[in-house]
Amino acid sequence: MKEKIIIIGSGHSGVQLAATLRAKKWEGPITLIGDEKNLPYQRPPLSKRVLKNISFTEPSPLRTEQYYQDNKINLLLNHRVTSLDPENHTIEYNQQTMRYDSLILATGSKPITPAIKGLSNVKSFQLRTADDAKHLHKSIDPSKHILILGGGFIGLEVAASLRQRGIEVSLIEKDSHILNRVASPVVADFLKKLHLDRGVKIHCNTTINFISKMTNQIHLYSTTGQTFKGHELILGTGSNPNIELAEKAGLKIDNGIKVDEHNQTSYKDIYAVGDCCNQFNKRYGIDLRLESIQNALDQAKNLAAHLCGESSHHQAVPLFWSDQYETKLQIAGIKKQADTQIIRSDSPNASGFSVWYFKQDKLEAMDAINSPQEFNIAKKLIQSEADLPPSSVADTAVDLKLFL
Ligand SMILES: Cc1cc2nc3c(=O)[nH]c(=O)nc-3n(C[C@H](O)[C@H](O)[C@H](O)COP(=O)(O)OP(=O)(O)OC[C@H]3O[C@@H](n4cnc5c(N)ncnc54)[C@H](O)[C@@H]3O)c2cc1C
Repeated sequence: MKEKIIIIGSGHSGVQLAATLRAKKWEGPITLIGDEKNLPYQRPPLSKRVLKNISFTEPSPLRTEQYYQDNKINLLLNHRVTSLDPENHTIEYNQQTMRYDSLILATGSKPITPAIKGLSNVKSFQLRTADDAKHLHKSIDPSKHILILGGGFIGLEVAASLRQRGIEVSLIEKDSHILNRVASPVVADFLKKLHLDRGVKIHCNTTINFISKMTNQIHLYSTTGQTFKGHELILGTGSNPNIELAEKAGLKIDNGIKVDEHNQTSYKDIYAVGDCCNQFNKRYGIDLRLESIQNALDQAKNLAAHLCGESSHHQAVPLFWSDQYETKLQIAGIKKQADTQIIRSDSPNASGFSVWYFKQDKLEAMDAINSPQEFNIAKKLIQSEADLPPSSVADTAVDLKLFL
């Protein structure tokens, strides 16, 4: 436990890994290198509280500056690692070379810029970093009409934050439903209604194929002949894993950096954690690249345990949450392979309900709208692979805790 560890990426997984290693009494040097200038901070508030507030407030730091000093974590901010050499066990940044015994890639993901004609001729915003949030925050005010491209989590959370400040918002989504990749139609429809009631103009089934700037307005043209006009354009069109370093160094890539159950890449002594990696999930029998805080923290803790020589390996149920207005959506598990979906609700107009997903009568996943207690039960039921008859979920009189 005296070897030298270098972690590239000072986001959620990188910081958690360094902190867990120190908590487990790792004695060797730990260097954490990040290309952002801010002290590592909470990313989720960027699309929520940070944009909703009239005055800009920096997101909270993950740890204090003193913490890194006290724990001898050599934090190098504002430095981009430009290459790594697996044969010689070195990385390069700022024309300096640094040697490692174990290297961890915690490089996260980056927003996708869609290939739309004219997009490069107009100013547009993407949201990944505190700097992105600061620039966006500066450019929005209630006199403006904001266009958002993409009805995924980021687009919807930004729409909610702006509407809460009285800003006019139009959101354009190419699929038939918002959140098409991650939520069932019943959850998507509930959230869509929430946004429509708050005044967001949502246009699904709408593909933009040309963008232009006219005086002080941006014009978006759809394939079906519609034109949308606004003052600022925000892209919420998904993200890709940051794999460039790994790819150049010859590590195996497959929708992210491919890692095994210990987060080891195709090179011994090089590991990857968080959004940038793709790992086989035993519970679901499929490869998963997840973009969530819980996944980033969990993989970091597992890897720290492995590096410290602990043999236990635990793969948690994937979890995600999203806050839009006063509504909280929580997702447990993966519903891709489910064949049955059951809604648990006291009444059709309830402000809270849950959707339970089964595959051959086995609980796979659950979406909870404003139902945190049921969500906690579902998490445990999925993790323990409990025997839960689907019929018991449909009946709200049944106490599901009994199946734990
Ligand atoms: C606006 C927003 C809201 C979100 N909301 C939620 C939410 O509500 N719930 C949820 O579960 N998840 C949410 N997420 C997703 C969550 O933030 C990510 O899954 C999580 O941050 C992943 O952690 P990570 O360590 O893998 O990557 P990150 O936290 O992104 O950290 C990666 C870091 O590596 C740096 N880096 C990359 N390449 C290099 C290099 N070559 N050299 C040096 N540094 C490098 C990056 O700049 C970045 O700082 C949100 C994400 C965003 C952008």
